[in-house]
Amino acid sequence: MLRNCVSTRTESTTFQSASFSRRVCGRHAYTRPLFRPTRNEVSMTLRTLSTVSESVIRAEYQRLCNAMGLVPVPLDIYVSDDQAPPESKTPLGSFLRNATPGYSGTKRIMVLPLCTGDDQPEELPSFPPPLWSKHGWPAWRFELWHEVVHQVSNDLMGSWDPKEPGRIRRDRSTSDQGHGIGWFRGICRLAAVFGADPEEIDLLLDR
Ligand SMILES: [Zn+2]
Repeated sequence: MLRNCVSTRTESTTFQSASFSRRVCGRHAYTRPLFRPTRNEVSMTLRTLSTVSESVIRAEYQRLCNAMGLVPVPLDIYVSDDQAPPESKTPLGSFLRNATPGYSGTKRIMVLPLCTGDDQPEELPSFPPPLWSKHGWPAWRFELWHEVVHQVSNDLMGSWDPKEPGRIRRDRSTSDQGHGIGWFRGICRLAAVFGADPEEIDLLLDR
């Protein structure tokens, strides 16, 4: 379930690099349905995001920005397609093959690809969330909140380095690179706003 996070606050190849574009939708084993379409089935699967789903994700992002005091950045929301021509991009410049979310404080953009088979939201969920556990959180919401924490760490705390070492958590596990103390400061800010336990939120939003 672990995967690289490509969020960055410095200009780099980041989420538009070929290495990331080769990533496929194998993440989130805990939310992904067992259904795995064949190549022919994929070609018949709708590869676009519905207008309703996109508006739900944008509305959730705006609610988070309002709650956290963030200045919203453009969201690049699309359904990733590992069958797309390698150079095919969204209008905002993300490779269609890219299935990895990311936030760039320098480029001022948040990339939120959905995978074929992901649940596409049809209505806004409760806010704040009633539960701070992975149970019941769809992939799109989990990814959005994860990247918003990066935005909080970068934009509000000025304390995040994508190469920062992992942090020893309360349960003695170690977080990934880029999800260390600077990331956790963002978690703590978010936890304070929502009156939640930062360690619990860290475990929730961990990939
Ligand atoms: Zn991350």
